[in-house]
Amino acid sequence: MKRIYLDNAATTPIDSDIIKMMNEIMKVNFGNPSSAHSYGREARTIIEDSRKVIADLLHTSPGSIFFTSGGTEANNMAIKRSIYDKNIKHAITSKIAHPAVLAPLQELSDRGLINLSYVEIDNKGRISLSDLRRKLNSFPSSFVSIMHANNEIGTIQDIKKIGIICREFNSIFHSDTVQTVGHYNFNMQELDVDFITASAHKFHGPKGVGFIYLSDNVNINPFLLGGSQERNMRAGTENIHSIAGLAMAMKIAYKNLEEDTKYIKKLKSYMIERLKSEISDIAFYANCTDLSNSLYTVLSVNFPKNEISEMLLFNLDIMGICCSGGSACSSGGVKGSYVFSSILPDSERPGIRFSFSKYNTIDDIDYTIKVLKDLFS
Ligand code: PLP
Repeated sequence: MKRIYLDNAATTPIDSDIIKMMNEIMKVNFGNPSSAHSYGREARTIIEDSRKVIADLLHTSPGSIFFTSGGTEANNMAIKRSIYDKNIKHAITSKIAHPAVLAPLQELSDRGLINLSYVEIDNKGRISLSDLRRKLNSFPSSFVSIMHANNEIGTIQDIKKIGIICREFNSIFHSDTVQTVGHYNFNMQELDVDFITASAHKFHGPKGVGFIYLSDNVNINPFLLGGSQERNMRAGTENIHSIAGLAMAMKIAYKNLEEDTKYIKKLKSYMIERLKSEISDIAFYANCTDLSNSLYTVLSVNFPKNEISEMLLFNLDIMGICCSGGSACSSGGVKGSYVFSSILPDSERPGIRFSFSKYNTIDDIDYTIKVLKDLFS
């Protein structure tokens, strides 16, 4: 049966050239980068070359990049190390942050180490800069975590402005950029941000590898203790082939960024138009249809309620269409996304996230629309 993959915000297919390169490294460069002999030195070179590739693409120094097992670890590291090491007593995030941010902050709050506030968001998922300013005015020297783009509704926040406000109130600013690294340009020289985080599997790299960027302004202690890897910041023998895969995925993503962005935006806008013309009574979450202010890879749609809509995701899966009901939902049902319900609180109607990559085609969209038309006719 035909299968259409429209769940690229969950993960992306790995580029086959990257798989080939990683295979070669696993075969040939199996040395431990901490070993002094030639195998070790070769492995070390791969890691340091990868760090340089990433740093150059983000306009920062290699010393500011630390490899991790992905976005979750990088977010936990930024949050926990800042709050413990800087003796921070107040943190601010938003209710639509990813669980990899919400859960560690909640734990610190439950243990009584911090007071946790949530900045107001509007019905497009945009955070209120005046509310942030108000909160920071009451609690300067806070830890602020605001994601760059939301993984479920695609809302993009102005992290340049947020960074300036955080600086003004002597606060640490962490931005979860897992959905935007590899999809948008970053110039760390121009952003007042202390931490950003990334995950290779969101841009056609391997799973289980990512990085954290640390600005010169923050000094934190190691997150994982043990050996002296990652300049003492993250112990554990490095995942060499995956680190090389991450760097190659970044290189490819930024080499073709303009062209791929244009292509994926075209797919998204085609799907918006077809949905509007073929399915009656649909709505879009947040500012999903605004191509300049929402993640171009994500389109989240609120569908009418009918006898099949409770199991819409399941019905789409049966027809070979792989998409998502929001990150908190994996059972085939469509309820459960706290992000969807924070935007449309009283909706009993099903919400579906379609997310695109450069490997999708207009035919994928046409087939999806045809199936949806049948389900809602
Ligand atoms: N943050 C955001 C916004 C995400 O979309 C994800 C992935 O689902 C993560 C963090 C977690 O990243 P990882 O899967 O690399 O742990």
